[in-house]
Amino acid sequence: MVDNFDAICSKLKEEKYKITPQREIIINILLDNLNKHLSAEEIYDIAKGINPDLGMTTIYRTLDLLVELGVLQKLEFGDGRTRYELQDEDMHHHHHLICLKCGKVEEFEMDLLEALEQKILEKKGFEVMDHKLKFYGTCSECR
Ligand SMILES: [Zn+2]
Ligand SMILES: [Zn+2]
Ligand SMILES: [Zn+2]
Repeated sequence: MVDNFDAICSKLKEEKYKITPQREIIINILLDNLNKHLSAEEIYDIAKGINPDLGMTTIYRTLDLLVELGVLQKLEFGDGRTRYELQDEDMHHHHHLICLKCGKVEEFEMDLLEALEQKILEKKGFEVMDHKLKFYGTCSECR
């Protein structure tokens, strides 16, 4: 589980990366916005409010580093923006609902694909470890 500050810091330290104040700010923004699927630009906007010296390059570099370390996952929802989500154990079990009108991304917390996964195992001998499912449609507010 890497959804808490200490777990993320120990990942960095394992790979001999320092916990710089900039990295700390970015990690805290990610932790404060769990399930919000922030883009780099949105993270930048929040970070600027905390430390105006934090540049876009630092944001991108830190996000790339966290992705490389397996702490963070990059998500594409087809709107041309890369979004980020902290990895967690339950990642397997949530699906994304993307509103085509307002662009909001919600999570659906249940997997419900167990029967399909079982069929895949039976028919193909393939064990499903994960899947990324995106549903495109209209959210409750836009309907
Ligand atoms: Zn998500
Ligand atoms: Zn909507
Ligand atoms: Zn599943």
